Amino acid sequence: MHIYIKAPVLAKCPKCGKPVLPHVVCFNCGYYKGTEIIDVLKKLNRKERKKKEKEIAGKEEKETAKKPLSWEGLSKK
Ligand SMILES: [Zn+2]
Repeated sequence: MHIYIKAPVLAKCPKCGKPVLPHVVCFNCGYYKGTEIIDVLKKLNRKERKKKEKEIAGKEEKETAKKPLSWEGLSKK
């Protein structure tokens, strides 16, 4: 008996840009349809959390990367 498993069609997570299964919560950032379903940061330690936060925010940062650096922006860090 042969069972062929079709490769699932992946959608792109609108939040972090990772490939995710359609209609399934993104396991990378925990978002589904713009809502945080899973608190993915909760189970991470501080170091991992920072890395993950950067990863999730990375996509949004790229869109505003063209903006020139301002003192206002720098002082926030
Ligand atoms: Zn995601």
